[in-house]
Amino acid sequence: MENKNFNIYDIDNIIKQELFNKLSSAEYMLWIDPLKLYSIDDSKLIYCAQDDKTCNTLIENYQTIFMEAIFKNKLPFNDISFIPLSSNFIQNNNESNNNNKPKINPFISKYTFDNFVCADSNRMALTSALAVAKNPGVSDNLLSLNPLYIYGGVGLGKTHLLHAIGNYLFENNNNLVVIYSTAEKISLEYFSSLSNFASNKNGYNITRQKYSVCDVLMIDDIQFIQKKKGLQEFFFNIFNDLYQSGKQIVLASDRPPSEINDIEDRLRSRFESGLLTDISTPELDTRINIIKKKISNSNIELDDSIINYIAEKVNTNIRELEGTLTKVLMFMKINNNTVSIDDVRKLIQNSTTSNSTVDSDKIINCVSQYFKISTSSIIGKKKTKDVVLARMFAIYLICEYLDLPLINIGQIFGGRDHTTIMYSRDKISNLIKKDEEYARRI
Ligand code: ADP
Ligand code: MG
Repeated sequence: MENKNFNIYDIDNIIKQELFNKLSSAEYMLWIDPLKLYSIDDSKLIYCAQDDKTCNTLIENYQTIFMEAIFKNKLPFNDISFIPLSSNFIQNNNESNNNNKPKINPFISKYTFDNFVCADSNRMALTSALAVAKNPGVSDNLLSLNPLYIYGGVGLGKTHLLHAIGNYLFENNNNLVVIYSTAEKISLEYFSSLSNFASNKNGYNITRQKYSVCDVLMIDDIQFIQKKKGLQEFFFNIFNDLYQSGKQIVLASDRPPSEINDIEDRLRSRFESGLLTDISTPELDTRINIIKKKISNSNIELDDSIINYIAEKVNTNIRELEGTLTKVLMFMKINNNTVSIDDVRKLIQNSTTSNSTVDSDKIINCVSQYFKISTSSIIGKKKTKDVVLARMFAIYLICEYLDLPLINIGQIFGGRDHTTIMYSRDKISNLIKKDEEYARRI
């Protein structure tokens, strides 16, 4: 069976998405989310779990639905196994550079340096990311690139650059252990390692070790650690473990360290101790070049007037630019490869009214008017039945319509825990499945 063309990251996503839909959120977060798809061995998927006990639970209770997810998505695998993090298998595989099992690239394949358009808005970030990819962990006296801290608004290419580093290292330095994760993911792992603490005193250490033994650690959206003391300490320890052994750390964030609220000073100063570099909104020229680059990868031709029009109108970020371009290309596919400026104008209008105008305040206001309950009660602590229902409606709508992490939604609702947010979301989601009246109100 030819597995080479499969991106391990995509496979993991497909399976986890399927399980996410099937299981309750709590169950998913506890058992499935922390799993790491370790490798593909012939036609078998090998997942790595915390310890033996977790592996046994997974085999007993979840193996069947994993197999169902594989069949349903027609993935070419016919078996699955779970191995503990501490097993010899993993250690041997990580240690030997010349084992004959092919290592699989977990990075998004299209996020490479080659596909990244260089511009004034991102030149410094791109150059430093490339320098890190070429010489991870190596700094000279004049310029320290450890940690490399890249910040900037959404959709400007931070995640792309982190994956580009990963892809580059995979191509050129395949024996290094490179981990990419998000601060949110690590935080869930960290909290679940604490909840396992009573039954398995090593939970914390194993989780810490997993990150402390790698050669390059890249953490995306690091701003999520704000306000979480224990988690910050966990990061601080990992940071020191890696830093002291000369391993490379790369961080990405939507803001500079100085604007991350409520983090310990010692952690902030660690973040600031290497190179801080920002990515800003691209200029018109850059937006035009990006569109040209993207269509050069397809076999579709687009008139310069159309390219210029899109680049002029969509000036917020590159993700939106790509979204618009995809729509235009889809439109052309179903209209004999033709599109007019007027068609493009309509496509852009539709997309901007649908996403840029909704935010959490507007949703809360809308729920407040509908239920005739003040917004302060909705985000406050009151527990009367009608207030709780309105609050859960607002939480559900925010979860559904805004792409926000649960932790952030908890902050919007007066610092509630992410499990509370999950509970409200699932509760309403079940209610509207069962009760048409609720579905109508939503
Ligand atoms: P961020 O992590 O900053 O929110 P992403 O890295 O997810 O943004 O980028 C959003 C999209 O824009 C991705 O599909 C990415 O490939 C594309 N993109 C961003 N910057 C560039 C660039 N300079 N050249 C080409 N594509 C880019
Ligand atoms: Mg990102």
